[in-house]
Amino acid sequence: MARVLCPNCNSKATITSREKQSDHVADLYVSCTNTKNCGATFVSTIAFKHYLNPPRQDTAQLAASLLRNLPKEKQLELIGV
Ligand SMILES: [Zn+2]
Repeated sequence: MARVLCPNCNSKATITSREKQSDHVADLYVSCTNTKNCGATFVSTIAFKHYLNPPRQDTAQLAASLLRNLPKEKQLELIGV
């Protein structure tokens, strides 16, 4: 699991809250855990970039919609019925 590091002292930092900016972008409100020497609080942005593998459901839906465009016999043949 990724963790956020303090940009000032590189210590571990704790996400205290999260503010959604859009569907795939959020601001994280973060506190440095090195309270003795730093104690900074800051905002980091996380954003979805791209899929490495499409979600399972998308793959199934894609296959289903491709199948629907084929003639019935071809559909049955591919499904293996
Ligand atoms: Zn710090």
